[in-house]
Amino acid sequence: MSSSSDPMTERLLCSICLEVFSDPVSTPCGHNFCKICLSTYWNNSQDCRCPNCKETFKQRPDLKINTTLRDVVDEHKKKCHEEQAEVVCDICSEGKLKAVKSCLVCQSSYCETHLEPHLRVSGLQKHKLIDPVKNLQDYICQKHDRPLELFCRDDHTCVCLSCADGDHKNHNTVPLREESKEKKIQLLKTQTDVQQMIQDRIKKIQDIKHSAEFTRIFQYFPVEEQKKDTQGQQTQPTLMLILALPGTPKANRRSSCSLFAICIYLL
Ligand SMILES: [Zn+2]
Ligand SMILES: [Zn+2]
Ligand SMILES: [Zn+2]
Ligand SMILES: [Zn+2]
Ligand SMILES: [Zn+2]
Ligand SMILES: [Zn+2]
Repeated sequence: MSSSSDPMTERLLCSICLEVFSDPVSTPCGHNFCKICLSTYWNNSQDCRCPNCKETFKQRPDLKINTTLRDVVDEHKKKCHEEQAEVVCDICSEGKLKAVKSCLVCQSSYCETHLEPHLRVSGLQKHKLIDPVKNLQDYICQKHDRPLELFCRDDHTCVCLSCADGDHKNHNTVPLREESKEKKIQLLKTQTDVQQMIQDRIKKIQDIKHSAEFTRIFQYFPVEEQKKDTQGQQTQPTLMLILALPGTPKANRRSSCSLFAICIYLL
């Protein structure tokens, strides 16, 4: 479990490699990828489309690094490194050195020198090491004092091996690493679904606009408030289309035209 599961990091993930962007580039449709990931993706596909929204480009876009996004990524990486750098070795007595790993079993952080036995001694090699973290207790089961290395999908919580053998015995538990990878995939799927929904919505509005042109409708505006119908149930938000009256002074259009208002129920 590293800092890669925080919400800020998730927003900075490339949907191809599932890592934080390196040299981010933006497509004309507004999606971001690592430059190398997108180039490789296009080199290996017949047509040139966005891996996220599937928009096709007739010509392969010239990929320029999105400098603003790159700055955000750099800033974020720096912050993560700083947080890790603040973790010091628990064994060093004086002039404590920077920790390179934290051990979930020993519940301690170690500098390079003091980590060495964990890499050499067979009993210690089994200990679960993670990137240095300050709040080690958050990674330990409060009930069993063991590392939280599994994720219970039934309860949506992190559990230790004892939990998995006890309260969560017949539950679907998976190693944490696997779960965080799947979370990323789920997140990306949701993003794609939302984008698809927005595009459908835009298309719907465009269709309405087109048919409205036929009847010389010159203005439309969304009505925010939801009206109650006779049964007292909420109706969908409406989009009002106001008819133009030839020769009506602009200032009076809205009031005189309200007689000709057409309410179209979206959805
Ligand atoms: Zn990437
Ligand atoms: Zn796209
Ligand atoms: Zn040390
Ligand atoms: Zn240890
Ligand atoms: Zn436990
Ligand atoms: Zn459970």
